[in-house]
Amino acid sequence: MPNSTANLRKAIPPLTAALFAIAGFAHPLRAQDGPPAWLTRLFQPPATASVPAPGDATAQWSGQSGASGDPRMSADAIRAAAADFGNCIAGLWPDAERRGITRANYERFTAGLTPDLSIMDKLDAQPEFNMAPWDYLDLLASDDRIAHGQQLLAQNASTFAAVERAYGVDRYIVAAIWGVESNYGTMIGDRPVLRSTATLACVGRRRDFFRDEFSATLEILQRGDIPPDRLVGSWAGAFGPTQFMPTSFLRYAVDFDHDGRRDVVDSIPDMIASTANNLRMDGWAPGETWGYEVALPANFNYLLADSPRQTSVRQWESLGLRRANGRPFPHPAERASLLLPAGARGPAFLMLRNFAVIMKYNPAEAYALATGYLADRLRGGGPFVHPWPRDERVLTLGERYQLQQLLAQRGFAIGQPDGLIGPQTRLAIRSFQQSVGQIPDGFASSEVLDKLQGR
Ligand code: CA
Repeated sequence: MPNSTANLRKAIPPLTAALFAIAGFAHPLRAQDGPPAWLTRLFQPPATASVPAPGDATAQWSGQSGASGDPRMSADAIRAAAADFGNCIAGLWPDAERRGITRANYERFTAGLTPDLSIMDKLDAQPEFNMAPWDYLDLLASDDRIAHGQQLLAQNASTFAAVERAYGVDRYIVAAIWGVESNYGTMIGDRPVLRSTATLACVGRRRDFFRDEFSATLEILQRGDIPPDRLVGSWAGAFGPTQFMPTSFLRYAVDFDHDGRRDVVDSIPDMIASTANNLRMDGWAPGETWGYEVALPANFNYLLADSPRQTSVRQWESLGLRRANGRPFPHPAERASLLLPAGARGPAFLMLRNFAVIMKYNPAEAYALATGYLADRLRGGGPFVHPWPRDERVLTLGERYQLQQLLAQRGFAIGQPDGLIGPQTRLAIRSFQQSVGQIPDGFASSEVLDKLQGR
């Protein structure tokens, strides 16, 4: 969601995906990480979003040190911080007071609060994630999810229409976020947001970030927008069908059904309108879509893909790009970047500025593409035209490290090996591919790894 935190917001079922990890764990906070150039993100499925994951909420802390190596994540440091939890909460009172929380409410809401240390395992979860982009899209835009979304669009047609009029945001995008974030509210997490944010504000390596989320949660409770027993969500404090973080809620939530409460958990009108307002405030361009699947001409210069610099659709057309479905581009003056999530063998996309807006909601290209794709399917569009290279084997984390090390050994600059195929690694892959006569699409394929290994 919205900015700040959004990323974490979804961290519900960490399929541990991969990452975007700027911080090592999947989805971490946006604001802290700074505004990312969206195209520099990896195309790897994010850890959040509603992809089913094995058991979650009842987990106990493993008692182990976190993998990040951050001193605040050592087992001893976690135990010490947990032992000091009461003092820490008492020390957060000035933040709450600045938000206008009354002393009586502070004491009432924090009475009996204990840390949920199982969150520490989530916070440092290793981004080992081997789900291919096409499998991720299949899950998030399954036939069931398309049918369910269409049903909800029909049931709430007048609300969606009113929200479109009020905010200028395409109803199918909002419905797709609803579907991708929580499978339409069926996967929203069951951890009390106050406990999760209190834990993260007092234990572990994201304390500064979560102090604000904790006091924002208190503000929501004091205002009475959402009852305490309904303010539950992911381990990172994201709640409701579209997974708002507390600070994002305070910034974007609206009372669309006019009952005096901004209830993004149990009021569908409030949830839909708040999500649309979030997108609008993040710069949604009304009347434009997120992007187009395109067909590339023969002998296309793949070095043009993946650039953070946007070029007009008309210029892309002059290079021979066409919409994959054969229709004309409706707005040739729109600016777009070219994305090849699975390299030259997979489908290609021109991404418009609204794609970047979706990535502000949850900064992962795979998330944004899944959302745009689900929106198009909900609208009645068909599957992508160009097939995914489904025979392609996705590299494991270890293999991605190895690929980076082998590139570095050959003199290609990859920065510090981290197992994440970011822009620098993709550039190195392109250079290597060029040097051996392969198509320089920057895709970390098993073929590239084989070639680096001298096979
Ligand atoms: Ca309301």
